[in-house]
Amino acid sequence: MNFDRSLNASPGVEVRLSPLVSRVLAPNPGPFTFKGTGVYILGAGASVAVIDPGPNLPNHIESLKRVLGPRRVSHILVTHTHRDHSPAAAAVKTWSGAKTYGLPLASRSAAPAPLEGAVDEAHDHDFVPDIAASDGMLIDGDGFSLECVATPGHTANHICYALVQEHALFSGDHVMGWSTSVIAPPDGNMGDYFASLEKLKARGDRILYPTHGSPIADPQEWLGQLILHRHMREDQILAGLARGAHSVPELVEKLYPVLEAALRPAAAQQVMAHLEHLQAGGKVGREGGRWRI
Ligand SMILES: [Zn+2]
Repeated sequence: MNFDRSLNASPGVEVRLSPLVSRVLAPNPGPFTFKGTGVYILGAGASVAVIDPGPNLPNHIESLKRVLGPRRVSHILVTHTHRDHSPAAAAVKTWSGAKTYGLPLASRSAAPAPLEGAVDEAHDHDFVPDIAASDGMLIDGDGFSLECVATPGHTANHICYALVQEHALFSGDHVMGWSTSVIAPPDGNMGDYFASLEKLKARGDRILYPTHGSPIADPQEWLGQLILHRHMREDQILAGLARGAHSVPELVEKLYPVLEAALRPAAAQQVMAHLEHLQAGGKVGREGGRWRI
């Protein structure tokens, strides 16, 4: 896949991306956050909404406050409750009085991951939205309106927000241009993720704004590639099983032969997520840690 790693932005600086959309980068770069969390500010008037206020880092929260200046924050929207997305909501709410929107943490998310070495995208257990967003719900702001689009998969509580006036969609970690998304069971679910990719593909959004990395200018094409990529991975897993790899580590070895050690746990989770999806479709069976066709 042709990933876009061109984003060149400095933390704490507001960059205008369209008449109604600007972005401030948080200073939290990393293997799962790329250059950092992109906090989106929506609206051109005296009141704005903030999407994914970001991590709980004092210098980031200070930057956000300085950048927003005299503008009133009317809504705080959260795509999901990973710690690089929602924790700053509490501080923004304290100074602005704005209500928070999003989905609460799903109960299955509290279950321990089936594999050692979980990815570093732990959940923010403190975030409880003032208003639970739901699929199709409309949120009106000062000169803009948003439609909530439920997109479980990366997490069970992932939701996107579509900006009606610009046919744009804030895709969180569900669809990114710099990388594929991490699907870590049991909170992440590959079957849900496939369905949520198809759901966005069936929409007519003209641009996607992921929380990490640059905007995606051709959503239909990119979504198609992501779907193909995942089908290819499942074919590779079936081929690996046919050739005698029966455990997750054996399959990781076959699928990702030149992977750096830090990314192995995430790769193992992807394989596990695919195996569970194949099992749900009746294509593979399992006995303990041994998988077979
Ligand atoms: Zn995430």
